[in-house]
Amino acid sequence: MATDRTDPYDVIVVGARCAGAPTAMLLAQAGHRVLLVDRAAVGSDTVSTLVIHAPGVAALRRWGLLDAVTAGGCPPIDTYSFDFGPFTIAGTPRPYEGGSTAYAPRRTHLDRVLAEAAAAAGAEVRDRFSVDELLRDDDGAVVGIRGHGPGGSPLHERARVVVGADGGHSRVAREVGAEEYLTRPTGMWAAYTFWSGLPVEDFGTVSRPGRGWAAIPTSDGLTLVGVGWPVAEAAAYKADVEANYLATLDLVPGFAERVRGATREDRFFGAAVPNAFRKPFGPGWGLVGDAGYTKDPITAQGISDAFRDAELCAAAVDESLRGVQPFAEAMAAYQLARDVRAMPIYEFTAQLATLEPPAAEVAQLLAAVSRDQGAMDDFAGVTAGTVSPVDFFAPENIGAIMGAAAAR
Ligand SMILES: Cc1cc2nc3c(=O)[nH]c(=O)nc-3n(C[C@H](O)[C@H](O)[C@H](O)COP(=O)(O)OP(=O)(O)OC[C@H]3O[C@@H](n4cnc5c(N)ncnc54)[C@H](O)[C@@H]3O)c2cc1C
Repeated sequence: MATDRTDPYDVIVVGARCAGAPTAMLLAQAGHRVLLVDRAAVGSDTVSTLVIHAPGVAALRRWGLLDAVTAGGCPPIDTYSFDFGPFTIAGTPRPYEGGSTAYAPRRTHLDRVLAEAAAAAGAEVRDRFSVDELLRDDDGAVVGIRGHGPGGSPLHERARVVVGADGGHSRVAREVGAEEYLTRPTGMWAAYTFWSGLPVEDFGTVSRPGRGWAAIPTSDGLTLVGVGWPVAEAAAYKADVEANYLATLDLVPGFAERVRGATREDRFFGAAVPNAFRKPFGPGWGLVGDAGYTKDPITAQGISDAFRDAELCAAAVDESLRGVQPFAEAMAAYQLARDVRAMPIYEFTAQLATLEPPAAEVAQLLAAVSRDQGAMDDFAGVTAGTVSPVDFFAPENIGAIMGAAAAR
């Protein structure tokens, strides 16, 4: 027999990581009664290469959580480098809310800080609790969840709004049939692991035709190195992940030698991520984070996007609960704001993730960028999400970069 409580929550948030925990925190801070559930344990690991760009760092600062996140021992990352073979672009991203610094904390630490902040704000946090089904009223509107905790007995919980922050394979999105749009082909399959004895200071990426990798300083003095191949070659890569990973690094022998001299401290993690938006709302339900919008990790946008969308989604849900705006209108504004901000970097990301060499005119532009520190800082800002690709690749800006290169 399922237990059915009579006093509904204002909001149930399914998924307690980068998207769900801040959404729950912000709604609880706004005075709403919030239940935050996750089938995983708070503080457990997940697949991610960890980089939080300046806009995400700014969100943590606004929420008063930056010190707690960096207390986990992850160093500041102030410069980004992009090695294209014949030239390297290295710069400091243009600032966002006064800061350019990125961090790459282990998710075991970051996600715990976020879930604890939700609890401190007054949300009821229930981890190791799986949602098995959404509850509907006679009109089909979502009115709650059916799930189970470690004991296994089914539990019903009701709410005025259920927010799915349950990741790219979102059960909430699947059950409500959330429409997908602007899908782009999946780009790469990447594997990463953690190394000691391999100090790096910047967020460094290397691109070679059909191959790419990144080295990122993270918590506990470790360096994360992730290596991507086109998804069409994923089966070949997976046939021997370690050998293929190391052989790819041999494309830059000096770095490969450093990795071979370092100590691997963890297993290999691997993933390919689809590129798609989902409509993030309908009667009684919303989506936030990867549940509503996923993209290839090559530009490391997911965590910062999840923070931004948590703020947008929580504000929309709050307005509807307070009767300021009807739910559908408030959530449509959230969807529009999310899509307008995400679209340019989404297209840039999907293109980059093919790992195809840049077209000749783009290669020419990037070579010119590599000789101009201001342009390199702007390019770093594109990846960091502090400079719009629309502005960077605008004809006037390209003209200015090429003109300056020609005059040199
Ligand atoms: C290989 C790889 C590298 C990446 N690198 C970066 C990077 O460097 N920087 C960056 O910003 N982003 C990166 N990302 C993306 C980033 O990890 C995601 O965008 C981010 O984790 C999304 O957060 P989320 O809260 O939306 O979802 P998730 O982190 O996926 O969390 C969803 C949660 O929902 C829970 N859940 C799911 N179903 C249920 C259910 N039925 N009941 C209860 N709970 C449920 C899960 O247990 C999980 O804890 C990377 C992703 C991958 C795969």
